[in-house]
Amino acid sequence: MRVDILGITVDTYSMQETVEQIRQAVDGNIPLRVVTANPEMIYASERNIKLKKLINSADIVTADGIGVVWAARRLGVPVLERVTGIDLVQALFPIAHEGKWRIFFLGGKPGVAEQAANQVVLKNHGITTEAMHGYFSLEEEPDVLEQIRHFQPDVLLVGLGAPRQESWIVEHPRLASVSVGVGGSFDALAGIVVRAPKCIQDLHAEWLYRLWKEPWRWKRQAVLPCFVIKVLGQEFGFKTP
Ligand code: UDP
Repeated sequence: MRVDILGITVDTYSMQETVEQIRQAVDGNIPLRVVTANPEMIYASERNIKLKKLINSADIVTADGIGVVWAARRLGVPVLERVTGIDLVQALFPIAHEGKWRIFFLGGKPGVAEQAANQVVLKNHGITTEAMHGYFSLEEEPDVLEQIRHFQPDVLLVGLGAPRQESWIVEHPRLASVSVGVGGSFDALAGIVVRAPKCIQDLHAEWLYRLWKEPWRWKRQAVLPCFVIKVLGQEFGFKTP
């Protein structure tokens, strides 16, 4: 089931259901494109038709953040829980370990994807990884593509930043069974960015913690009140600027 939030159709899948869909796609070698849609992306897509099409044409669009879970509830199609990029990949790794998957990590500053992949393999040694940073030029792109094709990943994790990663995945299809845009997840996996303690995550205040730790994000988070007003506009049928 999907819920329409400002024109973006978000899946109501739980984390477990999302992981199961990905597992089936890898087992059956069925192409699957996953977008983790946060409020900033949903809000931006209102004014960006290309982005809206990119997101809505994905096979799975997850509710990335408590703002999206809240919006779904307001609009009468509840989503059980948030399925963020970092939580999704962390839930996938044990399954990938069991299934001996090949995972390619693309993105982040030089060295970060390798560090993230090494950390993941330490705990999940059934996984085979390869990594490449996300600061390559257009001229270098063919080599990056060749490296990924040669590796033949089951899963391609793309952390080039949203929404660039979403269009990059669409522009380069069939590199892996499953492709997921994961934003800054490699920074967290590598330990460069420390996530909010579990109790803060459980209070649904991780966004506040990130704002405290990375105050330069305020500009991005400043759209959150606008997102809320737009969602209320959709719920009660009033026009918003
Ligand atoms: N990034 C990249 N190449 C670029 C620009 C950004 O690999 O040309 C990476 C950056 O190093 C960081 C991630 O993209 O790891 C940030 O993505 P986003 O802002 O979507 O992450 P969020 O913080 O929202 O998870």
